[in-house]
Amino acid sequence: MTDTRTHIDERLAAIERTLLEMTALVAERVGSVTSAMLEGDVDAADALVAADDDIDLLSLQVEEGCIDTLVGEQPTGGALRFVVAAMHINTDIERSGDLVSNIAKAVGRLQGAHPDDNVRDLLARMSAQAQVLLRRAAESLRNRDAELAASVDELDDVLDELHYRYTQHVISDARRGDLDPQQSLQLALVGRFYERIGDHAENVGERVRYVIDGWLPEAQVAERAKACLEDGDMRPSRGLAVIDSVAEDRRVDAIRRDFIANVSHELKTPVGAMSLLAETLAGTTEDADRTRLTDLLQHEAKRVGDIIDDLLELTRLEETGTAADMLQVDDIVRRAIDKVQALAEAHRIDVAVEGVPSALTVQGDRRQIVRALTNLLDNAVRYSDSGQRVSLIVEPIEDGTSLTVRDEGEGIPRAELERVFERFYRVDRARSRETGGTGLGLAIVRHVAQNHGGKVRVESKPGEGSSFTLQLPVTGPEAV
Ligand code: ADP
Repeated sequence: MTDTRTHIDERLAAIERTLLEMTALVAERVGSVTSAMLEGDVDAADALVAADDDIDLLSLQVEEGCIDTLVGEQPTGGALRFVVAAMHINTDIERSGDLVSNIAKAVGRLQGAHPDDNVRDLLARMSAQAQVLLRRAAESLRNRDAELAASVDELDDVLDELHYRYTQHVISDARRGDLDPQQSLQLALVGRFYERIGDHAENVGERVRYVIDGWLPEAQVAERAKACLEDGDMRPSRGLAVIDSVAEDRRVDAIRRDFIANVSHELKTPVGAMSLLAETLAGTTEDADRTRLTDLLQHEAKRVGDIIDDLLELTRLEETGTAADMLQVDDIVRRAIDKVQALAEAHRIDVAVEGVPSALTVQGDRRQIVRALTNLLDNAVRYSDSGQRVSLIVEPIEDGTSLTVRDEGEGIPRAELERVFERFYRVDRARSRETGGTGLGLAIVRHVAQNHGGKVRVESKPGEGSSFTLQLPVTGPEAV
């Protein structure tokens, strides 16, 4: 018994050490990316992008540590809460790491921007504040200190206030003509970056508090754990079963909360940019500048529209039924190709369809399947370089039809493969934004596959390309 306890404690301590190391690393990187930005040091920024792997590696260690603990030790009570919190904290810190990389990528484009001293000063202060927040969150975790964790919330208000003043200064710089519209937009997004780091630190604080306060009475956790143990078999997965049962009442709530938070974040960026652009536009008299600003404004408005369209599509997929019509595959292919043709031509990408067996049919919902296939083709085009080729391979398989979209584009790192189907998950946020992505395309594809009793999988190699396969079984969706 004592042995087991010591073992769990050791494991938890190792997880905690790694989390603290990650937090310290992110805080340091926030400092470095700020100085790279202030000095326009593109080499330093590139080095930061390259060093992102360090954080991913640590994050993987935390993930493995948590799973090993769950499976090997079947923790209950406080230990279980700690593991759950650690998994969430891990995601938050890893995302903060991603943000640093994305902002580092933007540094190159900011070169030549000459914000006045006020903006530079605010930038430095936001950075310092974001670092304080991350450190404070880490300290509260190390010391299990609820009060300290709560103070992250309050401190975050300071960052919000600085962010507000920063935005005001960027607007007045832009009005005076010290910044061109692209630069002011870029600087506005940089401001949002610090705000987001603050949000992540706040999340860490919140998790620490629930480790301390507990979100399920100890007795209840122990009871459920006991029930799972009595359930018998499958010893190795008992830890996971415990966590599953503990989490079930909270899960739906958490998903809803996360989703709303994500949507708000996603919309806040373009809406913030629009208000900044509109204000700048109001103070601009030069025709050329007005045209540029209007174009940018339209671009951001389209982004908001696209996100809303995709959200509505997801809701439709969840709430309305899936038709079970008999459909000609060549008709579906033609419709999907038609939708991406213009984009492909604009990018000088050849989309080739390889042998659609005539008279091949699938059972399902035409609109849904066309949408899923269009999303895959659209991604293949957007994540390829001009001159590359995209192929669509249609094959009858034993129990249905398989549609594979293959590209020769940038590919996806192995560690991210599973996650690209999550809502709003992007491997490279900046690139997705540049190419007009909403982060919802693959979530829609996965939903369509599920509605049809099928599946979607991906194979990819960075630098060589990706291949997404949508398999639709012959049985089609259950009639609704
Ligand atoms: P987005 O609208 O950002 O493209 P998706 O849900 O369609 O969102 O895709 C999620 C992420 O998966 C993308 O941001 C991108 O990083 C990655 N991705 C999707 N398709 C491809 C592809 N064909 N090649 C490389 N990366 C891809």
